[in-house]
Amino acid sequence: MSRAQLFDAVRVADLHTFSEIIERFGHAPEPVEGAVSSSPAGPGRGCDICKPTVASILASLGNGHILEGEQATLQDTNDHVMANMQKDGTYSVVPRIAGGEITPDGLLVIGQVAKDFGLYTKITGGQRIDMFGARIEQLPDIWRRLVEHGFESGHAYGKSLRTVKSCVGSTWCRYGVQDSVGMAVELELRYRGLRSPHKIKLGVSGCARECAEARGKDVGVIATDKGWNMYVGGNGGFTPRHAQLFAEDLTSEELLRTIDRFLMYYIRTADRLQRTAPWVEDVEGGIEGVRQVIMEDSLGICADLDAAMAKHVDAYEDEWRAVLEDPVKLQRFGSFVNAPKTADPDLAYVAERGQIRPANADEKAAGADSLGAPLIAGPTLEVRR
Ligand code: SF4
Repeated sequence: MSRAQLFDAVRVADLHTFSEIIERFGHAPEPVEGAVSSSPAGPGRGCDICKPTVASILASLGNGHILEGEQATLQDTNDHVMANMQKDGTYSVVPRIAGGEITPDGLLVIGQVAKDFGLYTKITGGQRIDMFGARIEQLPDIWRRLVEHGFESGHAYGKSLRTVKSCVGSTWCRYGVQDSVGMAVELELRYRGLRSPHKIKLGVSGCARECAEARGKDVGVIATDKGWNMYVGGNGGFTPRHAQLFAEDLTSEELLRTIDRFLMYYIRTADRLQRTAPWVEDVEGGIEGVRQVIMEDSLGICADLDAAMAKHVDAYEDEWRAVLEDPVKLQRFGSFVNAPKTADPDLAYVAERGQIRPANADEKAAGADSLGAPLIAGPTLEVRR
């Protein structure tokens, strides 16, 4: 089955767990001639392609927390601990900063958390702050501090909505014709946590000068004198694409409804790891075909798409807050099975431009004394009595 077929099959058959899905639709691999196989006959046990795909489908259909019960075992490396693994095996932490708007107090909280845990900080391309160098056993403590101060998961680790980038718009800018920050915040809070075939990025610019680079996003919104123009199918990455004009001069209400339907139609029918640009090309009729489905309800599914998005918005909960409240889920954040709070002794850092970075192999081998950029710390410091 394609992902779209599997998505419909799971939805129509009303299946809610991987076991139910594999039992119903799974096939054990064909035995290779002459090989001695230890695989059981029957539905099989899943593989590295179908497990994350099913995990994404179950999450998109609103089947609870991604680390709940059986779903936890389906998740990829990053989703598995809800953080992005880096080259030295530590993780980066990205709290949501909706629309790129943050108060001075919020900045102080992130700064203090980064200082207290010795993390490297960098502003991301999506207008938020990434903290690098967090060890797995530190993730709950870091998130507890962030959640206490009103932050929530930014889903930087998930195939889901990432960010809604915005310019300052009419609030501050002399050229702005609409409140682009207000719209970006509304969109980000509406679609946060929405799991999809690939990551989704949005952008909102307050006038045609396009300072938010919205046409480089899956959904780009550009303010006009009369409302909002909506563009779809943009992305950066390996094959950069400019988004194409989808609808003009929408009211704010019309804009939300149109984006709701566009995203839900994409989530239901795109292939595994397919971004919106190639998906739009694949839909019968291309962008005109998508327009007919969403604006003219040519398939008669718009009410269903609207209901699915309403369900997502109603059911949203912060994944990290839920983990902090659940002792069972917290158990996975241990460094070693027999010593869960012990720091990885192989980690080592050097100072660069006033912050830490992982030491490379030569620096580790050379040690602290013979380097221009000396080893400043491993994960633990020696205590002298
Ligand atoms: S896109 Fe327009 S409103 Fe936004 S910052 Fe640029 S000039 Fe100002």
